[in-house]
Amino acid sequence: MARYTGADCRLCRREGSKLFLKGDRCYTSKCAVDRRPYPPGEAGQRRQKESEYKLQLREKQKTKRIYGLLEKQFRGYYDIASRQKGVTGENLLRILESRLDNVVYRLGFAKSRDEARQTVRHNHIHVNGKRVNIPSYRVRPGDLISIAPKATELLPIKSALISSERNEIPGWLELDMDKLQGSVLSLPERDQIDLDIQEQLIVELYSK
Ligand code: SF4
Repeated sequence: MARYTGADCRLCRREGSKLFLKGDRCYTSKCAVDRRPYPPGEAGQRRQKESEYKLQLREKQKTKRIYGLLEKQFRGYYDIASRQKGVTGENLLRILESRLDNVVYRLGFAKSRDEARQTVRHNHIHVNGKRVNIPSYRVRPGDLISIAPKATELLPIKSALISSERNEIPGWLELDMDKLQGSVLSLPERDQIDLDIQEQLIVELYSK
C-alpha cells in the first residue's frame, strides 16, 4: 500500500499543530512545531489569508496525516461514513479509530501509528488469538488484541510498552498489562476521541 515517505515533522509544521507522528520525540523540546511554529518553505512566515475552502482542506489534510492515510483510502472511509446512520463526521472518526494500527497505538503497543502499522505488518499482533497483519483491519466490540508471544521481547515493542505509561488508554479500550492484551469494549463515541479535529469541516469539503 502506498504511503507518504517524506519528513513527518514537516507535515505537523504545515498543519500548525502537533500530529504526534514520531513517538517519544514529540514529547521533547526537539519537536519541530515547538521550535519553528510556522509552515515550512519560503512563504512559511508570511501571513496568508484563510478562505473557508482552505480551512476545510487543511482540516481534512490534518486528519488524514494523523492516521497516516493517502487521499484515496481516506475518501473511501468518508464514503462509508456518509452511508451510515448518524453524524457523518463522527462516523468517519469512529471508522478511523477502529483501524487495527490505531488500536495497537492507543493500547501502547507502539509509540506512533506509523510504528503500529509496521508492528501489524510484521505479524506481531493477534486478534482473538489469530495473527492479523492488515493495518486497516477494523476491530469490533469484543475483539481481543494481543502481542504475538514471540514478539513480546522485541526492542521496539518493549520500549513502546515502557513509554506507554504516559498515555491514557481511551475508555472504549481496556488493557491487561500482565497478559499484554487489550479488549475492545465498544466503538468510540466522539468525546472519547481526544483529537483536536473539526470533522464537520471535512464533511463540508467533501459535500461540495
Ligand atoms: Fe510532529 Fe512529533 Fe515532529 Fe513534533 S516531533 S513536529 S509532534 S512529528
